[in-house]
Amino acid sequence: MAYLATPTATGEIIKKYGFNFQKRYGQNFLIDANILGKIIDAAEITKEDCVLEIGPGIGTMTQYLAESAREVVAVEIDKNLIPILGETLSEYENVTVINEDILNIDVGNLAEEKNNGKALKVVANLPYYITTPIIMGLLEGQVPFYSITIMVQKEVADRMQAGPGTKDYGALSLAVQYYAKPEVMMNVPPSCFMPRPTVGSAVIRLTKHSEPPVKVTNEKKLFSIIRAAFNQRRKTLANALANATSLVDNQGTPTKVTRQEVCDALERMGLNTSVRGETLSLEQFAGLCNLL
Ligand code: SAM
Repeated sequence: MAYLATPTATGEIIKKYGFNFQKRYGQNFLIDANILGKIIDAAEITKEDCVLEIGPGIGTMTQYLAESAREVVAVEIDKNLIPILGETLSEYENVTVINEDILNIDVGNLAEEKNNGKALKVVANLPYYITTPIIMGLLEGQVPFYSITIMVQKEVADRMQAGPGTKDYGALSLAVQYYAKPEVMMNVPPSCFMPRPTVGSAVIRLTKHSEPPVKVTNEKKLFSIIRAAFNQRRKTLANALANATSLVDNQGTPTKVTRQEVCDALERMGLNTSVRGETLSLEQFAGLCNLL
């Protein structure tokens, strides 16, 4: 089977199977071999690795992964792609295709079954409509993984990597940076996909921290504070937290804080009581979490 990463090869397979692209599944297939090679390099795949690919499509990236990794598990939601993958991956004995929604897959179990519970590498050209739930599910879900190398909408890559005081900085930046080190590896223009997406894309690698960079009394509490801070981004942090209805305490049960309690904690941290959440670093959010 020839490689699929050209407009001609992809077009031929699509035509042969009468495949209709499903917009609702975010189907934009890669047709650029150069970009694919760079994704595999960025993911640092070796013959030791078990790779989880989310959304193999017609198998364009899967072919490359199968050649570089020991084992590949590819999870594809669209049943119409399964016969196509049967053909395009027929030469590879180290690939398992699972026809399922990735959000219904217990990735911990999968690592147990396929990799003796050892860390996986996740590689994907993600469907953009569910980028955040997929990433947060992997990060928060106690899933053993070493790194996640993914194509996402450029804007989302920028948000994951952003630091305090920038317009892209928000709850996603802090959640990602709590669990992993984000590195944008390259930008990818719409012309590298069939059909062309309406937005620019970027490849980002998230390398999991062995230990979170900050220590907090309760992670759920930390993230409830962060979410509340950015839900009302234009408000001062003290007002945003005092208005919040979804804060949790050290036991993870719902709680409230007063404006005064937040101001006292900010003062103890040497911060102005009128700061906005968007100026606080992860370390400062952790400090606030531990003081409240
Ligand atoms: N990997 C292929 C490539 O690079 O050409 C296809 C990438 S395409 C952007 C996203 C793929 O994810 C599609 O094949 C789509 O059907 C699949 N997909 C969408 N939602 C999914 C889900 N919830 N679980 C698993 N796969 C999904």
